[in-house]
Amino acid sequence: MWYKPYGSTGKQVSAIGFGGMRFQKIDESKPEYDYDACAALLLEAQAQGVNYFDTAPFYCDDQSEAIFGHAMKDLQKAGTPLYVSTKSSEKEGPKLRAQLEKSLKRLNLQKITFFHIWCVLDMADYRSRLGPNGAYEAAKKAQAEGLIDHVVFSTHCNGAEIETIVNEGLFEGITLGYNILNFRFRQQGLAAAAKKGLGVVTMNPLGGGVIPQRGEKLAFLKTPEDATVVDAALRFNLAHEAISVVLPGLGTLDEVSQDCAVGNRMGVQAKAPGSPAVFSAFVESRKNALEHRTAAALDTLCTGCQYCLPCPQDIAIPKFMLSYNEKIFGESKDTLGMLKGHWGIKADLAATCIECGECEERCTQHLPIIRRLDEISHWAGAK
Ligand code: SF4
Ligand code: SF4
Repeated sequence: MWYKPYGSTGKQVSAIGFGGMRFQKIDESKPEYDYDACAALLLEAQAQGVNYFDTAPFYCDDQSEAIFGHAMKDLQKAGTPLYVSTKSSEKEGPKLRAQLEKSLKRLNLQKITFFHIWCVLDMADYRSRLGPNGAYEAAKKAQAEGLIDHVVFSTHCNGAEIETIVNEGLFEGITLGYNILNFRFRQQGLAAAAKKGLGVVTMNPLGGGVIPQRGEKLAFLKTPEDATVVDAALRFNLAHEAISVVLPGLGTLDEVSQDCAVGNRMGVQAKAPGSPAVFSAFVESRKNALEHRTAAALDTLCTGCQYCLPCPQDIAIPKFMLSYNEKIFGESKDTLGMLKGHWGIKADLAATCIECGECEERCTQHLPIIRRLDEISHWAGAK
């Protein structure tokens, strides 16, 4: 495995991290997870060199942290560095404290290595975490008590906003969405974080599943060195000198093996003389490949994160927006086909939107949901 410094913390973290949001249920129609099988994934990742493990309350029907806790004693037995990240989106200090204590208990840990002020959506949201008795104050107090090693944040803000936040100097690291499809719109924030010496973790390196699902259409992203588009996408993030950890969601042993193999291979290459220049040339060549593919629209993909919910009209917004991704890669009929064939949803329900705007305020990708629903309504003949 390739190990990179996490900002100025002195910690060397595995370039591939374990994203704990994709554990699979025994049966999709039932609520149970097989904790032993999920723990086996964590242990296998550790055996392949992963030392950065990321979870959060609410992941996997709020069971991800407990799954980590189930594996914790075995993970600790290895005696190698083990860095655990979790999060809280609570804005009030006492609520964040309660959530932190619950996380520690569920994880079977005395201390969280990287504790995230979670999902900062915009500047107003950022400021709302900083007040007296607020989230940030509570996290710093917990850090002083030895319950947290490093206070970091995760965000879906735009580049200029991220630059402002990191320059205020409150955090030691950042987790942000960055991948081969959306990099244009995120690189200002990434550069600002790197300049300030923050550790950088990139979530969504596979575009919320879009990259593996659209392997054929995105095949131009591969080089002869890449067996798959997933390899190409992971390498794109790994090769970036500012990025400490690439965080794919890992749900199967095959995914663990495939993604760790890329981290291992690049770890070997990183030891060769001149590797920074080789990696940077690779990143630039992939950027150029995208420039020639009119990929501007690719930043506008729904990741399926579900932060837009609930909708007062009970519109299944993520399903509509994930279906709209099909239009970005193809035609409107592909969107209608996915709504009907994959999700079993009537497309004309899009016309029930009352344009209240609540979903757009919450959307992590700042998608024009109302406009897209309107387009779908027209395609479906409902308007
Ligand atoms: S704008 Fe439309 S889709 Fe969004 S929350 Fe309001 S009613 Fe629902
Ligand atoms: S519409 Fe936005 S918030 Fe909702 S699932 Fe898609 S990306 Fe996430």
